[in-house]
Amino acid sequence: MSSNVLQTPIEYLKGVGPGRATLLRQELSINTFQDLLHLFPNRYIDRTQYHKIGQLVNTGAEVQIIGTITHVSLVDQKRGKRLVAEFSDDTGSMELVWFRGHKWIKQSLKTGVPLVAFGRLTQFKGQFSMAHPELELQSEHQQQLRTALQPLYPSTEKLSKSGVSNRLMNQLTAQLIQEHLGPSLDPLPEHLISRLKLMDQRQALMQIHFPTDHNALARAQFRLKFEELFFIQLQLLRKNLIHKKKIKGYQFTQVGTLFNTFFEQHLPFKLTPAQKRVIKEIRQDLGAGAQMNRLLQGDVGSGKTIVAFMSVLLALDNGFQACILAPTEILSVQHYNGLLEYCKKLNISISLLTGSTKASERKPLLEALKSGELQILVGTHALLENRVVFKNLGLAIIDEQHRFGVAQRSKLWHKNEFPPNVLVMTATPIPRTLAMSLYGDLDISVIDTLPPGRKPIKTVHRFDNNRLKVFGFIRQEIAKGRQVYIVYPLIQESQALDYKDLMDGYESIVREFPSPKYQVSILHGQMNSADKDFEMQRFASGQTQIMVATTVIEVGVNVPNASVMIIESAERFGLSQLHQLRGRVGRGADQSYCILMSGNKLSDDARERLQTMVATNDGFEISEADLRLRGPGDLMGTQQSGVLQLKIADIVKDAETLKLARSYAQEVLREDPDLNKPEHTGVRHTLAAIFKFKNIWHHIS
Ligand code: ADP
Ligand code: MG
Repeated sequence: MSSNVLQTPIEYLKGVGPGRATLLRQELSINTFQDLLHLFPNRYIDRTQYHKIGQLVNTGAEVQIIGTITHVSLVDQKRGKRLVAEFSDDTGSMELVWFRGHKWIKQSLKTGVPLVAFGRLTQFKGQFSMAHPELELQSEHQQQLRTALQPLYPSTEKLSKSGVSNRLMNQLTAQLIQEHLGPSLDPLPEHLISRLKLMDQRQALMQIHFPTDHNALARAQFRLKFEELFFIQLQLLRKNLIHKKKIKGYQFTQVGTLFNTFFEQHLPFKLTPAQKRVIKEIRQDLGAGAQMNRLLQGDVGSGKTIVAFMSVLLALDNGFQACILAPTEILSVQHYNGLLEYCKKLNISISLLTGSTKASERKPLLEALKSGELQILVGTHALLENRVVFKNLGLAIIDEQHRFGVAQRSKLWHKNEFPPNVLVMTATPIPRTLAMSLYGDLDISVIDTLPPGRKPIKTVHRFDNNRLKVFGFIRQEIAKGRQVYIVYPLIQESQALDYKDLMDGYESIVREFPSPKYQVSILHGQMNSADKDFEMQRFASGQTQIMVATTVIEVGVNVPNASVMIIESAERFGLSQLHQLRGRVGRGADQSYCILMSGNKLSDDARERLQTMVATNDGFEISEADLRLRGPGDLMGTQQSGVLQLKIADIVKDAETLKLARSYAQEVLREDPDLNKPEHTGVRHTLAAIFKFKNIWHHIS
């Protein structure tokens, strides 16, 4: 059968018609035969299992019961009437209830004959009932039992109200498969099918809707998940290949004097193996002549800066300029100051450009940039303004912390004749599976070990009623000369309340830690930036011992002497934010601590978040837990991506299948980059169809 048949509009399927077609389109985005075929069941119920009324428990589950109707009545209620049938088996009785369609249903109800009722169980005042059950004669039910596992399809209230029941969906799908699903070219190549012992596609589609048994269902699911993930990976990887072929980048052919001098004479420490590996990956990219587009992931403190700097040296060694873009002024100043020292030693020029750079300084800076005299420019978004013109920008480093500034990135691209090589650094590790799906077309480097000698931060969870002990601990640490952060949540919707919490907290801290012995700083988003800087400076220089703050300190504050992070109402923070906050301490030589304060009542999720924080310091583990708890939909950057539009696979649960699919997609492209071989005809056609019908990946770059 050609795929054309499957592109037939859904109204032409027998039993659908224009009315139902509109519903299916609106409610489930089913436009064609193909869409219906690819509407996979959410779940299956085992229709050989029957419940006894006497043994029902109130789980809200969908159950199947054999019984007879003994009595039918119409009961008045506030709005309209409801039809109630008493339904009994040899262990007890319950109610079947209808709120609509009384007349028609009443006529069709058969009393005294064995029926199978199927539906969701509810309980009211000890009485079990089922609203709008599916009813079948037991005799017919048994004949009809095509399969023990009955598929349950996604549905909506509107659909079920309009009579598009699960049973109807079953019938439509069965009919579609019987009448229209002929043999067709399997999109996966034969060599893959046989090596992975995959069920063929047609078989898998039949089994996914009407499984003969659990084993066949599992194989069908695996086949279809693999297929889905394989084509996504293939698409992303191919995009990467095409990109590399098409987009010529500046090639840094030599590792020159600056790089070598720095490496041999000025490196302040021994590079970790992870740093060495990443620098090697970057060197390979930069030497290849295709534009580099690389994401560098590494936890806070993992040492990304030195990697960035050495990459910059590669650019300079080849006669190019480089820039480093940071999301905030604080961060860019920090980068600038850090790198200035190195630059002096190497006798190279570096400048800082931010929104607050004075006009008198900016003018000569921009001129030096244009002439090429200035080699490295560090700054904020101010770098993206039109008047900022490089002579030859060869490398752009973007320190994004945890923002994905795709739009801004592409803005930088257009500043030059050719796009510069791009290295994006992020401190929020993205789970590998998610990164693979989001950024399959981006190369990824990971720094997965911290520099030696770091003491892991000790993290504990304390309930609010232990506050006095926590205060005692703070006193102890301050007596040792350390400093302390106390962070309050500030969430947009409840701002007024949150400010009150913050100010109350501040006052009680000041009471508990009175001056002159103690000095307390406060920092929050509604202060103007001069005040913020002033407070920050007081804390950084050690004039105050305690910093009470909102999450404004999350990004870019570096006070190595601060060794205690206390997070109030920690249950209200997300995992990645907790991890970012914790990263503010543990920057010096001292043992650092993170204390998560919470109320006694915790949701399961909140409890798990806090437990995860206590259990690990590893950003990757935390991001995996975050993905598991929240699902991909809530993670940053996934909202508009296709990750959510997966039909059958789940990037959390099917991580292994994803890895497998990726490695096979890589293999196929290695052997046949243009998919020209005859055995890849199906692959090529399917890929083309994906591009044509749902080009959902274009916005990920
Ligand atoms: P991040 O990845 O958060 O940007 P940084 O680059 O700021 O981390 O590094 C954090 C700290 O670790 C810095 O003080 C840096 O000098 C130090 N550092 C980085 N790499 C090493 C190393 N290989 N050995 C020892 N210290 C290192
Ligand atoms: Mg950094």
